[in-house]
Amino acid sequence: MGSLSEDSTPPSQRRRSGYGCNVAHVLNDLDNDDRTVLLSWLNNRRQYGARQVSERLAEHDITLSLKSIQRHRRRECCCVADHPEWFTDG
Ligand SMILES: [Zn+2]
Repeated sequence: MGSLSEDSTPPSQRRRSGYGCNVAHVLNDLDNDDRTVLLSWLNNRRQYGARQVSERLAEHDITLSLKSIQRHRRRECCCVADHPEWFTDG
């Protein structure tokens, strides 16, 4: 695991289990600094719409669909139970 810019592993090779949130898969593979940045984007809906987050990640060769981001933000994924600390926007 390196920085976002060094991370070019395809998502299909990252997946460790068949179940879960794609946002969680990405977050779990980032180092602490990068995870903090991505979480700040996810929790800052005013400045980062799902499209902005997706486009910023694509610049670092990380693919995250709008659907995954939106579902994660609606808390309809396993992250709510597994990582409540990821949600800081109330
Ligand atoms: Zn999630």
